[in-house]
Amino acid sequence: MLNIKGLAVKLEEEDKQILKGVDLDVAAGSVHAIMGPNGSGKSTLSYVLSGKGGYEVTGGTATLDGEDLLDMAPEERAAAGLFLAFQYPVEIPGVGNMTFLRTAVNAQRKLRGEEEMSAGDFLKVIRAKAKDLKIDAEMLKRPVNVGFSGGEKKRNEILQMAMLEPKMCILDETDSGLDVDAMKLVSEGVNALRDAGRGFLVITHYQRLLDHIKPDVVHIMADGRIVKSGGPELALEVEQNGYADILAEVA
Ligand code: ADP
Ligand code: MG
Ligand code: MG
Repeated sequence: MLNIKGLAVKLEEEDKQILKGVDLDVAAGSVHAIMGPNGSGKSTLSYVLSGKGGYEVTGGTATLDGEDLLDMAPEERAAAGLFLAFQYPVEIPGVGNMTFLRTAVNAQRKLRGEEEMSAGDFLKVIRAKAKDLKIDAEMLKRPVNVGFSGGEKKRNEILQMAMLEPKMCILDETDSGLDVDAMKLVSEGVNALRDAGRGFLVITHYQRLLDHIKPDVVHIMADGRIVKSGGPELALEVEQNGYADILAEVA
């Protein structure tokens, strides 16, 4: 599904190389986790895949189901099925959450040449999904993320994901700032979306999220590369010993 080969990225404004050859394949139906020290390039990888500006790809490729992601506009990547849940969800004053989601859903459908979702159908679906995430009707009417708590913003990211039904979901530190109950809700939301046709890339600092969202593969990223990959036990090793041993081993 998602195939990344030798992806190298520098900042557009500065001569600073951030990704130094990332190789990663996420098959449909699987959950991959990425862990790694602060500043290793995890968010940059998710930004570059989703098409945020300010970066220059200096080498390598990234495809989704064989389509060249790097060649597409951000909205085309989204319509192709890529979704990013932000580490820092953005507030959008003046734009109602419900309106935002309905516009996003229908914009994607349009780009795919599909029919719009009717207002009635949309309401039915969003109410059910919001209820699962314990997002109340009031939060759906408020401007996107404005005045939401940290946990509410993260749950709202998962609601967006549930509404857009992407093929490839990237979650960038969705667990940071969540209390135990909110983490459980978010994990349940993710697990409900697990499907043979869908892949996940879960970026996290903490093994505890991976107790709820069981990954098939765990990668360690350091200094712009994936330096080690393994099973879920790799996350436990990080939790117990930190990154020092792994980084020394691969150095
Ligand atoms: P992570 O998500 O693993 O903590 P990031 O991808 O956020 O790491 O950052 C990787 C490195 O790139 C860091 O050293 C960070 O300071 C730098 N970086 C990323 N984006 C920018 C930017 N727009 N301007 C300056 N430095 C940046
Ligand atoms: Mg970070
Ligand atoms: Mg980050």
